Amino acid sequence: MTRKGWCPGALRPMPAGDGLLLRVRPHGSRLDPAQVVGLAEIAEIFGNGQVDLGSRATLQLRGVGNEALPEVQRRLAALGLLDANPRREARRNFMVTPFWRAGDGTTDLVRGLEEALRDAPDLPPKFGFAIDTGSRAALQDASADLRIERAGDGLLLRADGMAWGERVTPGTVIPRLAEVLDWFAASGHGRMAQAIGEGLKPPLLEDAAPDRQGLRQDLLRAAPFLFAPFGAATAAALRDLAGHGLRLTPWRAVLPEGDLHSALWLTDPEAPLLRVSACTGAPGCSSASVATRALARQLAPHVPAGRHLHVSGCAKGCAHPDPASITLTGREGRFDLIRNGRAGDEPSRRGLTTTDIADMMRGHLGAQL
Ligand code: SF4
Repeated sequence: MTRKGWCPGALRPMPAGDGLLLRVRPHGSRLDPAQVVGLAEIAEIFGNGQVDLGSRATLQLRGVGNEALPEVQRRLAALGLLDANPRREARRNFMVTPFWRAGDGTTDLVRGLEEALRDAPDLPPKFGFAIDTGSRAALQDASADLRIERAGDGLLLRADGMAWGERVTPGTVIPRLAEVLDWFAASGHGRMAQAIGEGLKPPLLEDAAPDRQGLRQDLLRAAPFLFAPFGAATAAALRDLAGHGLRLTPWRAVLPEGDLHSALWLTDPEAPLLRVSACTGAPGCSSASVATRALARQLAPHVPAGRHLHVSGCAKGCAHPDPASITLTGREGRFDLIRNGRAGDEPSRRGLTTTDIADMMRGHLGAQL
């Protein structure tokens, strides 16, 4: 059912330690109110009771049994969350800014890109797009290969890895994007920035730089985002948002449409629980020999503001591929400790127990962070 380098979808789920994992790609990085409640129900009845918020504005259902798959897919289709076939699903790999406004042209771009991707050449599994045409630049740090952005009053089409992009109009952007896709597919590369780093030059003019993006913390305070610890929204937390559309983000947060208050979500981007991340770990992932989230939760109060601690079940580092102030990587039932690095980097300490780590974090390690 799987092959290396291939990304799971809802039509082609991936077996994991706790059952099937289905990745759902909501159209336009948005859930309508019926989809919010419908997904909560699917997670509760057929999954592990949670919907994971992915770093590309996708969602994941975990813990789905093989026998439940047809019913889950039927329900996803009824909610408008299933593509016609796996090929189309795999291509629809793009995220949309949560800062779009009605009438700003963003929803037209989403429709245009979806149509263009139907006829696009085969693309590498991780090749993606960002539509960053909201009231402020927001997706420049998010993983994407081709970007539609704003430059002053106009639109820009920019290849990842290029500082400048080509000025386009709502009428020319999709045809130009399709030309770049043809060029990229013929190049044989996996990611755009890698191709450019190796000296390839996409067929795009260099007219202008995009509007500059502010600091992440300023973006997260610019709208009433709701955050889920470890990016795992419980079915109850989703139900608490019933009646509202939700915009998805690459920050494992959602932006509800309309005013609401929910005690089941974190609202402060500086909350200690958001200074830690942890992958699924054991027993949900068969690559892990350690549980991860209970330890991360226990250590969160000792992580100072502005620092990050990541607990990874193995050296793959799925949940936080970037460096963290401290990374704890599970290995044979214990943890290796990496300072200012990634899960697979060389550790400075090996073979730590959870008690060792808690003692260190309460003492010298926490103070040094
Ligand atoms: S980092 Fe390793 S243990 Fe954690 S989810 Fe990924 S593969 Fe599983």
